[in-house]
Amino acid sequence: MKYDYIIAGSGCAGLSLLYRILNDNDLHQKQILVIDKSQKNKNDRTWCFWEKGEGIFEEIVTHQWETLEFLSDDFQRQFAMENYRYKMIQGIDFYNFVLAIAKKRKNVTLLSETITNITSVDGKARVTTENAEYSATYVFNSTSLFYPKMDTKNSLLQHFEGWVIKTSTPVFDASVGRLMDFRLSQEHGATFMYVLPTSETEALVEYTLFTEKVLEKEQYKSALKAYIKDYLQIDDYEIKHTEFGVIPMSLAKFSRKVPDEKNIINLGTAGGFTKASSGYTFQFVQKHTEKIINLLKEGKHPNPKLTFRDKMFQWYDRTLLEVILSDKMQGKDIFATIFKNRDIETILAFLGNESSVWEDMKVMSCLPIMPFLTSGIKQLR
Ligand SMILES: Cc1cc2nc3c(=O)[nH]c(=O)nc-3n(C[C@H](O)[C@H](O)[C@H](O)COP(=O)(O)OP(=O)(O)OC[C@H]3O[C@@H](n4cnc5c(N)ncnc54)[C@H](O)[C@@H]3O)c2cc1C
Repeated sequence: MKYDYIIAGSGCAGLSLLYRILNDNDLHQKQILVIDKSQKNKNDRTWCFWEKGEGIFEEIVTHQWETLEFLSDDFQRQFAMENYRYKMIQGIDFYNFVLAIAKKRKNVTLLSETITNITSVDGKARVTTENAEYSATYVFNSTSLFYPKMDTKNSLLQHFEGWVIKTSTPVFDASVGRLMDFRLSQEHGATFMYVLPTSETEALVEYTLFTEKVLEKEQYKSALKAYIKDYLQIDDYEIKHTEFGVIPMSLAKFSRKVPDEKNIINLGTAGGFTKASSGYTFQFVQKHTEKIINLLKEGKHPNPKLTFRDKMFQWYDRTLLEVILSDKMQGKDIFATIFKNRDIETILAFLGNESSVWEDMKVMSCLPIMPFLTSGIKQLR
């Protein structure tokens, strides 16, 4: 069978691209092979992101917030957003939604196999699995096969355990999402809680750290229990769902294309779309896959060029991560300074790579110059 595209890895990035292809008038009949080692039938993660207006996955958004909250030792602030909305999508809803559409299309083949290699042969991209070889004009890869080398010198781990809790009485305000609560011990590194209520009786509470190593399982559990009791003042609750995740926050160069392999395009985390300074990925995957569709429609090579602004945002990210990695300033103090001094629309535009240069200056001007200058110069090299 001749395939136009192979989608290697059908998680967030692979299925976002597939959904866009299947909804495009020019591309929806292409022959597509989707390979993943997993069946994608578990609710293994919850994606949160922000955007203006409605996105393409609007119908599977579980909840959205118009107000966000930031808390630190010396200040607490609620921000009513004007244009942005903070949104939540459950992993399982996303997988089911896209895969249900794909299963109805004759031109889409879904395979459950482990990929062992991806390479180019005679101008075609070739995927090798434990069972067979498949080739296509382009392979869109989001597996970890081409991850760069990461270690404690160039990377932090963002690791977290989240619990969806259900209370017997109404306790939450579902209109306010708690983005970061830094009123916690920072002994391991930047540490905060994230509380996203989806109703008066249900919320996702997530204990998140940016550190070199993950903790013992028990440490996440005791931190969550203590926070729910002492800060949320809830004694009576049931844990409906748990999730655990580790996201790389790295200075290592994740490449959008595999060097010397013209027909292999990296997506998602593999392509560097996990923001080094925050771990957010979902919204950057959406922008990238939209650009790929536009290039494919124009008959161009589907590797969107990095713009000057893309490079600037990468440099900001690397600088911020370097400041934290080299202990020049604590993550808690960086975020607290920004959230104390700037408005939410500017902050979200900046963190979402959507700000103007003027807004970049506004955010950066509230931070101390020296640590960022020295790290910034280092990251220019
Ligand atoms: C628990 C959790 C919560 C997160 N929450 C957020 C959030 O709120 N907001 C946000 O923006 N980001 C979040 N992230 C980060 C990021 O959005 C996700 O990790 C996202 O899933 C990355 O998309 P991806 O397509 O690159 O990788 P994945 O979604 O992990 O997809 C990669 C796919 O490749 C498959 N695969 C890997 N290796 C092979 C192989 N050798 N052969 C075959 N298949 C293979 C995997 O099975 C997987 O399906 C979260 C991550 C985790 C783990």
